[in-house]
Amino acid sequence: MVKELGSLDVRGKRVLLRCDLNVPLKDDGNGKRVITDDGRIRASLPTINALLDGGATLIITAHLGRPKGERKPELSLAPIAERLGSLLNRSVAFAHDTVGPEADSAVAALKSGDVLLLENVRYEAAETSKDENERKKFASKLASYADVYVGDGFGAVHRKHASVFEAAELLPHAAGTLVAAEVDVLRKLTESPQRPYGVVLGGAKVSDKIGVITNLLDKVNMLAIGGGMVFTFLAAQGKEIGTSLVEHESIPLVKELLSRAEKLGVRVLLPTDIVVAPSFANESPTTVNADSIPKDQMGLDIGPESARAFAQAIKECKTVFWNGPMGVFEFSNFAAGTKVVAQALTEVSGLSVVGGGDSAAAVRALGFSDSQFGYISTGGGASLEYLEGKELPGLTALR
Ligand code: AMP
Repeated sequence: MVKELGSLDVRGKRVLLRCDLNVPLKDDGNGKRVITDDGRIRASLPTINALLDGGATLIITAHLGRPKGERKPELSLAPIAERLGSLLNRSVAFAHDTVGPEADSAVAALKSGDVLLLENVRYEAAETSKDENERKKFASKLASYADVYVGDGFGAVHRKHASVFEAAELLPHAAGTLVAAEVDVLRKLTESPQRPYGVVLGGAKVSDKIGVITNLLDKVNMLAIGGGMVFTFLAAQGKEIGTSLVEHESIPLVKELLSRAEKLGVRVLLPTDIVVAPSFANESPTTVNADSIPKDQMGLDIGPESARAFAQAIKECKTVFWNGPMGVFEFSNFAAGTKVVAQALTEVSGLSVVGGGDSAAAVRALGFSDSQFGYISTGGGASLEYLEGKELPGLTALR
């Protein structure tokens, strides 16, 4: 169990708060980066407000994308500091470095109850270094800014990174309310799911999700697969998949999983029809039978018949976990499968969980609101690794 926020005395203290503010951004055409979905910032507000109400001063550290130790301007947290300020309705100071001279002076200038956001923690190569000593050194510098540590960046808890793991170990610590809520839901999915229990997986990469399938196969009643990853399943069944996404190296494992599922009596739903196109573009959609994908076409969404079958199976479940879109939902011609599945999730009478920041952004982009789902997890990789049964360093550090 992670330590609860209430167990930490924060009054008059400086808190190093690790948040997950890794939101999608795009260029507005005039060189300005704009946030396209601020779900993760909003999800961080309860802990921030609880700490401020408790009399803390906040030094927030977070990452954006994967700058790999380089100062990539498009991955600056500056627009996030601005949005955070407007959501909190108070001023949020921003340091253009993470542990450099500007951060030093910004921390020194903090008055009681102030909020400071440090620049992208992954601009520092030491944050993600494989070398434990490098990470420790960097974490000590971060920890020197504060009296206590609060871990609330659920989307990064599966990473053994300095701001997630080592910094937590260096200070009295606790989990934020977001991390506590995420863990609570994930425990329900792994320890005591109400049945029937269904898992719906999609998205681009089969290798990202195969561990979850392996670990959950003997716990679920139904497994539905869509998205780009489904073509590796169809290829494993010997079907022609045209120019669709495929991971050949995963085919043997997929075959093994399919036969294990059959032995276990797990109902596996694969699409029976596919929406294909000649290229990866929002053009010329055609629906074909999953057994007859033309050689020169690529599958970009599950077809309407499959979407209906998935939706029906989902609605029969009392617990459903969904990660990954059913198709290239960013293209309007290939968003229908994801929409139908999302709609079915909103109609589940038990617990429906949307896993992952990208899946959450997908359902919001398609016009759904968070409150229509039982729970929307902010961490894609983190929730998947939890469901794979792996130990998550960011949670271990908060015990
Ligand atoms: P993931 O991060 O693995 O959940 O993947 C999400 C991405 O998968 C989205 O950006 C989708 O556009 C993409 N995706 C879904 N279906 C397909 C498909 N059939 N072919 C290629 N990409 C897909």
